[in-house]
Amino acid sequence: MIKKFLNKVFKKREQAVVAINEADLNLSQSAKKIAFKKHQINQDLISSAALKTCEGLQNAGFDAYIVGGAVRDLLLDFKPKDFDVATNAEPEEVNRIFRRSRIIGRRFRLVHVLWGRETIEVSTFRGHHDNNQNKDDGSTNDTGRILRDNIFGSLEDDAVRRDFTANALYYNPKTQEVLDFHNGVADVKARLLRMIGEPITRYKEDPVRMLRAVRLSAKLGLKIDKATEKPIAELADLLQDVPPSRLFDEMLKLFLSGHAIESINILRAQHLHHGLLPLLDVVLEQPLGEKFVMLALKNTDDRILEGKSSNPSFLFAALLWHEVLKAWQVQQKHAPMIPALYNAMDEVIQLQAKKLAIHNRFVSTMKEIWAMQPRFEQRAGKRPFALITHPRYRAAYDFMLLRAESGEIATEIGEWWTTFAHASSEQRTAMLLPDAAPKKRRKRKPKKPAVKEAGSA
Ligand code: ATP
Ligand code: MG
Repeated sequence: MIKKFLNKVFKKREQAVVAINEADLNLSQSAKKIAFKKHQINQDLISSAALKTCEGLQNAGFDAYIVGGAVRDLLLDFKPKDFDVATNAEPEEVNRIFRRSRIIGRRFRLVHVLWGRETIEVSTFRGHHDNNQNKDDGSTNDTGRILRDNIFGSLEDDAVRRDFTANALYYNPKTQEVLDFHNGVADVKARLLRMIGEPITRYKEDPVRMLRAVRLSAKLGLKIDKATEKPIAELADLLQDVPPSRLFDEMLKLFLSGHAIESINILRAQHLHHGLLPLLDVVLEQPLGEKFVMLALKNTDDRILEGKSSNPSFLFAALLWHEVLKAWQVQQKHAPMIPALYNAMDEVIQLQAKKLAIHNRFVSTMKEIWAMQPRFEQRAGKRPFALITHPRYRAAYDFMLLRAESGEIATEIGEWWTTFAHASSEQRTAMLLPDAAPKKRRKRKPKKPAVKEAGSA
């Protein structure tokens, strides 16, 4: 009996050892292990939060790697802006290991581990979808688009499911080794962005990958590999299917990458801009509109590359301004000037929202910036004093300067406001223009003599 029991235990242990060896074998067959000597990743550039997250998982007996954009950026000598960790621990297990963590997402469940102000995104290795799996975990639609991706798998499976070879590199801080399943290190060194697997299938699974190709190539100066690039123009229409909120998030990343101009140029070259920002198509085709949009993008790129923040509301207000102007003209046939502007703003936002859902928190600021524009032309009386104290004055003023620079309004208006802002209160009063339309004095109606009510004293 005891013998039988011991046999059983030993057999199990033997099997486990075999399994580990096989996994190791698999890994070494399919992944190149790249040592520090070759990749030279400087660990000082890795956030301590990411290192602590890997350490916490590894101490609990799990595998953990820094993965994705951060490893790619480190190889390219860029400072990564965020760090992702991949592990074989399931979300609930990760959540149990880190006190300050929470499980998020439905389409793609992952864990946010919080360290002070920094958040590390921890995802469990994703596996293959097959038809027998529970639809709640993994599903695709008729065109092959992945709707849910919560099927867990091995490290190797996880690598295949990532988009570009440069994004499928796994760095183990403990051994300082990079695991490379798809020749990503060589591609990064050759400055090439190459899709893993068959590009058409991969774009069908997730059309946003087309935008990611554009954004990453613009941001990192990588060339899109020929086979990766070729199907993009034909498949551009698939973006119509992507939920508007996801499209907005991706466009926001693109515009705030510090390389928005370059991204727009590539989007146009790849015929991807049609239908993305439906109104932007039209704007980019009008000379004045294009000049204005490009100036706004240049302004945003410069700010971001200088390390300053940039307000997405300002940028989206700029992208759609010439459409607002066009709609405003039409609306003025039916309503007075200011109500017509409000109608035009609503019309443009509604039309845009069908494709790309601009978050509500940005929409209200966009509307404020737009609505303040006619007020810059009023430079008489008390109005300029009121405008300059408006909480959104600064953004509206910057916006107006771009309009002046693009030739839409006289440069003199921009100069006037710049001087006005720096002037003393006496100087400001002296700068005011004569009121073109003096207020009409309402004639007072002659007071009616009070009629005494019959019977009153
Ligand atoms: P960035 O520098 O903008 O953060 P990134 O490549 O890190 O670029 P993330 O959105 O942070 O982009 O994604 C992290 C990683 O997740 C990617 O490097 C890639 O491995 C994987 N990934 C992200 N989006 C997709 C996608 N649509 N399809 C496949 N893999 C993806
Ligand atoms: Mg990233």
